[in-house]
Amino acid sequence: MKAIGVTIDGDEPELLDVPRPEPAPGEALVRTLRVGVDGTDHEVISGAHGGYPAGEEYMVLGHEAVGVVEDGNGSGLEAGDVVVPTVRRKPNGETNEYFRRGEPDMAPEGEYVERGIVGGHGFMAEYFTSPADSLVPVPENLAEYGMLVEPISISEKAFDHAFATREPFDWRPESACVLGNGSLGLMTLWMLGERFDRTYCVGRRSRPDPTLDIIDDLGATYVDSRETPVDEIPAAHEPIDYIYEATGFAPHAIQTVHAIAPNGVGSLLGIPESWEFEVDGGDLHKELVLHNKCLIGTVNSHVTEFEDAVDTLEEMPDWLLEELLTTVATPENVGPAFEDGDDQIKAVVEFDSL
Ligand code: NAP
Ligand code: BGC
Ligand code: ZN
Repeated sequence: MKAIGVTIDGDEPELLDVPRPEPAPGEALVRTLRVGVDGTDHEVISGAHGGYPAGEEYMVLGHEAVGVVEDGNGSGLEAGDVVVPTVRRKPNGETNEYFRRGEPDMAPEGEYVERGIVGGHGFMAEYFTSPADSLVPVPENLAEYGMLVEPISISEKAFDHAFATREPFDWRPESACVLGNGSLGLMTLWMLGERFDRTYCVGRRSRPDPTLDIIDDLGATYVDSRETPVDEIPAAHEPIDYIYEATGFAPHAIQTVHAIAPNGVGSLLGIPESWEFEVDGGDLHKELVLHNKCLIGTVNSHVTEFEDAVDTLEEMPDWLLEELLTTVATPENVGPAFEDGDDQIKAVVEFDSL
């Protein structure tokens, strides 16, 4: 069957011919509809993040997928069900406490593989198999954009964890800021617009630019980090109650602490490479302590957050979905899905339709 992957000898995604997988007991066979590409895929392709499945010379890419069950295989799913797969799987098929609790997203490195990212083949192929409990049903009318459930679930988890840290007191946040105008940042900006009175989004681009148009249309304020570094946002605009970092630009982790309002919280999502720069550690430490600030890292997500993400996708306006989806590529001509110029926001590879 057709699959898009990277090989140990190659340096860019290519069309591969790989065996069609057979579902094991408890697994369903899924016919792939669409698979999205995000910043992490680019980090995997460049070798900055992730790694090949043990003993393999290639890895099938793709962790943001939507498909339709071809063969339920007695798993409880029926042929024709539209489903989205979660990303993490048991390492070497051996379970551990995190998988037993249904919280694989909380497992430390070595206690999981991530399909299409680290140690496991991804979903960018005509068919994939998955345990039924790692397949989240999606209403048929959402199939076209179902590949967005995975990235939305990342933000559902980030919000759950960040806002839980503020539960012990009467937190009354009004402002939120997303760092990064990539696909994750823009979807999250809409989600925060539903929860906060005022929203901001930080980028480093000049107009005209399609992502800045979306920021405007969402009623958010654009902050150009070349003119206003993140730690100067309080002086230029206002201290921010909740900051969501989705740039992978390591200095943003530190600057976020200075941009958060007293009693506020910041979520770090980006996955930077090693990056050395100077920091006033005392100032950082004091800022966190004297203003009850919280900085929290978050990765991946689990089934209940995927289920929340399905509800969120249902609410997302059509105009936003249409503007986010900039490329629909075919497996035979996949190059455009991996171009990351300023006119690209979310690219997908389409294998089939319902
Ligand atoms: P993306 O498409 O590469 O978006 C990153 C955005 O950040 C780009 O729009 C980029 O702007 C902007 N940016 C980078 N440096 C900046 C700076 N100094 N000032 C202002 N803007 C800056 O990636 P994505 O898919 O949205 O994902 C964002 C990050 O989150 C990536 O690092 C990804 O690996 C990570 N991620 C983490 C998780 C998790 O579970 N923790 C899940 C998904 C993604 P330009 O395009 O103009 O350069
Ligand atoms: C994926 C997550 C994954 C993370 C780290 C993200 O792009 O969406 O599922 O845990 O990368 O590899
Ligand atoms: Zn991702």
